[in-house]
Amino acid sequence: FQLVADQVAGSIVNVRAVEEARKRTEALLEIDRAKTAFFSNISHEFRTPLTLMLGPLEELLSQQDGSLTPEQEANLQATHRNAMRLLRLVNTLLDFSRIEADKVKAQYFPVNLADITTDIASTFRAAVEHAGLKFHVDCQALSTVAYVDRDMWEKVVLNLLSNAFKYTLKGSIKITLEEADHHAILRVKDTGVGIPADELPNMFERFHRVKHSKGRTHEGTGIGLSLVKELIQLHQGDISVESQEGTGSTFTVKVPLGRAHLPEDQVIDKRV
Ligand code: ADP
Repeated sequence: FQLVADQVAGSIVNVRAVEEARKRTEALLEIDRAKTAFFSNISHEFRTPLTLMLGPLEELLSQQDGSLTPEQEANLQATHRNAMRLLRLVNTLLDFSRIEADKVKAQYFPVNLADITTDIASTFRAAVEHAGLKFHVDCQALSTVAYVDRDMWEKVVLNLLSNAFKYTLKGSIKITLEEADHHAILRVKDTGVGIPADELPNMFERFHRVKHSKGRTHEGTGIGLSLVKELIQLHQGDISVESQEGTGSTFTVKVPLGRAHLPEDQVIDKRV
């Protein structure tokens, strides 16, 4: 009898533990939803006054007639730069909260992925070379058409390249696109500061930043890579990173080719 009583007591404890775990998960999900809503509202509220500040600032910058001292002009430019930076941050937060709230519906168009990736990458060439780094772009044509949301793909490529640029002080940045196993494989490889091994599993978590990575700038929010991951997941793809401290990092994105894996109503079969 004691054995049966113990077993019953054991399963009651188990049921309670499962119930408590479920409650905790729900509470966490609720906090997450509240956080997302909060970011979304805040970003919206910040954007309007920021845009209203940028207009007059840009006008002032464009009509300099020599009436400003060099110091005033430098201050004006710094104000403009920082306002633009804030706008970029706010826009990234907004992108993120839209995805989280499921408000973003990707639209998948058949694209020439090699061409659009080369175009996006080329916008970086001047800055990278100006900083004394080598820049290699090698995007190969794919045998099957890729269906991607162009804006999202652009954000993925720009985020990865701008990280490579931020965290590489010497050497080179290389971006390649190739095909393997019915997937498009995008790689962004740098010879930068690298990432410590124990940080690698957390790289795609929201707000995660590597504390001791020395880069070109310490600006950042830790949301870029988590946004990239969300965007890639909307393409049923995946992202991974390999890195060695002091040697460099390689970020690899894989997205399936074709359209079979995508929701039918979001595929627009019209070439752009
Ligand atoms: P942010 O750059 O705004 O901090 P990200 O999510 O883009 O946010 O990156 C998170 C962190 O990952 C960065 O703070 C940086 O420490 C590290 N990181 C990202 N890309 C690289 C890279 N190419 N080389 C070294 N560290 C990187």
